[in-house]
Amino acid sequence: MKITSVRTAATRGHCMHLWVMIETDAGVTGLGECVHGGHQAIAIIQEFAPKLVGRDPFAIDAIFEEMRRSLVFEGGFAGALITALTGIEIALWDLKGKALKAPVYDLLGGKFRDDIRVYCDCEVEPGMNMDEIKRVVDEVLEAGFTALKIDLDIFAYGHHGSETAGFVKDRFNMTPDRWEHDRMVQLAEMVVAAAGPTVEVAADLHTRLDKHSAIRLARDLEHLKLMWLEEPIPPENIDTMREITQATSTPICAGENLYLRHGFRDLIEKHAVDIIMPDIPKCGGLSECRKIANMAEIYSMPFAPHNVSSPIGTMASAHVCATVPNFLVLEFHWFHRDYWSTITDGGEIIKDGKITVTDRPGIGLDLNFDVAKAHQYPGTTWFA
Ligand SMILES: [Mg+2]
Repeated sequence: MKITSVRTAATRGHCMHLWVMIETDAGVTGLGECVHGGHQAIAIIQEFAPKLVGRDPFAIDAIFEEMRRSLVFEGGFAGALITALTGIEIALWDLKGKALKAPVYDLLGGKFRDDIRVYCDCEVEPGMNMDEIKRVVDEVLEAGFTALKIDLDIFAYGHHGSETAGFVKDRFNMTPDRWEHDRMVQLAEMVVAAAGPTVEVAADLHTRLDKHSAIRLARDLEHLKLMWLEEPIPPENIDTMREITQATSTPICAGENLYLRHGFRDLIEKHAVDIIMPDIPKCGGLSECRKIANMAEIYSMPFAPHNVSSPIGTMASAHVCATVPNFLVLEFHWFHRDYWSTITDGGEIIKDGKITVTDRPGIGLDLNFDVAKAHQYPGTTWFA
């Protein structure tokens, strides 16, 4: 079997959802996805496409590593380069599974579990009162989720329009004042109270704090027994992250902006966090993330992947989650829900707060491309 074409299409979800379709001379097709690579990732995939034609699609790890090494002088350790290769890698896994009539999890070593627990990143906003929070949380719990996540920080990046809400006094410094610190603690307390004693709650800080502020906040949240506190500081300084992790019983989680095993090695070996959260359709793909999870496992560290993908990247992530013992929970964004149900042939893949991996071949998901095209990302081509 040989690859005959590599094409891309992009839709607008939480971010650009970049789909990669790989066709073969045997008529078997694979579909993959990558996120957060932007238009650069499209250009990189299109540059590789002619070089992949004629190749054996089963040599997935070798193709990935060959492409990556060819880009080392262009920064082939991180960023859009790795993300582009990730989209190709996931499409190759789907293709291989379909060709062998086996689900991807079986090709990755087999599953530890059938159901992949999903947490809902929900739309609790700063400034909400208890009634408003309860309404948001109840809707999430009624949908069957048993774990949820909120943003404690105010985005400095213009998301949700909250940078204009009047809560941030400085967009760039890292030090919340006493009022801002108390606001974050109170918001977390209200959400945990609304969620009740059996629902897990995680809270994200999007790298916004300085070291001392992070330790103070993590300690003041300890009574809430959060599932984790996410990225209190930027993940690049492993030693500082480790000091925060060691200073509190609140579990610290990071990794959504790291790439490859190399990017996670120090974080894991130094136990700089309690939980790692690679973004599978971004940071290296299914083979790589399974290895990252395995590396974390021997340091007694849970694996809780970040996820902002469409159903195809989410289901691909679920296959990895099925095959590692230390899987904790996978992310889903609540504000995706309308877009999701329309583009998946066969309906919702998340039911009662979980994804059930089936024995369908490949990633096991078909998208309705006619419906999806209505969500085409501006300035992109459609499977060209
Ligand atoms: Mg995050």
